Amino acid sequence: MTAPVTVVFGSATDAGLRRRINEDSFIAVPPLFLVADGMGGHRAGDVASATAIEEFAGLAGRASVGVDDVRAALLRARRRIDALSSGEGAGAGTTITGVVIADIHGEGYWLAVNLGDSRTYRLSEGEFEQVSVDHSVVQELIDAGELDPAAAASDRRRNVITRAIGAGSDAEADFWLLPAESGDRILICSDGLSGELDRDEIHAVLLAESDPQAAATRLVHEAMLRGGRDNITAVVVDATAVRSRADRSGDDTAPAVPSEDEFDGDTLPRAVATGGF
Ligand code: MN
Repeated sequence: MTAPVTVVFGSATDAGLRRRINEDSFIAVPPLFLVADGMGGHRAGDVASATAIEEFAGLAGRASVGVDDVRAALLRARRRIDALSSGEGAGAGTTITGVVIADIHGEGYWLAVNLGDSRTYRLSEGEFEQVSVDHSVVQELIDAGELDPAAAASDRRRNVITRAIGAGSDAEADFWLLPAESGDRILICSDGLSGELDRDEIHAVLLAESDPQAAATRLVHEAMLRGGRDNITAVVVDATAVRSRADRSGDDTAPAVPSEDEFDGDTLPRAVATGGF
């Protein structure tokens, strides 16, 4: 069976201008598009982010991935990263965010996942939105009405996250299931990009660069021009074709049986119980 969402994609990463080591890791192989931003001293950060991505790499090459596969990979990553923390890698942890291509009753969806403050955005039918909700102290203050969103970028607490894989967190990931549309563009990035470019600047680059690799390269370049204070990673994914219900009528192959029955229907925010450190 062909992939429910056909994509073209590009990616770029750079340590930036101030950090010696790049602690970001990513995977951009269908059906997986994920960015992880590691934390912890003595190189624990780059090991933690690479470990999380590694646990997903075994799913590469499938036509689609389900929420159960994502949950299982997160669990394996958490076990391995928690084990790192007991040795040299004290405090090892990582964010993770992105999309996997999912097949729900034969139709193509983006299954978005997030833990931490790396971000997944979607540009769809002219609308540019941040899909993931940051797990950060600053986001909590904004939600509580105690901080103006415009002041968040310069707030001294902007790097403090409230959920992670490892780093003492056992909080659950958030999931969103979004019906994919042909022409959708997904951006996944670490805070080294969103910390240097605001939403409108990111949007403008995504509109200006039609090729996904050119867009990813340009985003990282623009973040460097603005100071490159952190590691920067950008993954850009464009849907060129999406299998829809209409495509399936007249198709005599049996529809895929989804394991995601809880996702039967339209877009669902799936915020889960508040975790915290
Ligand atoms: Mn970062």
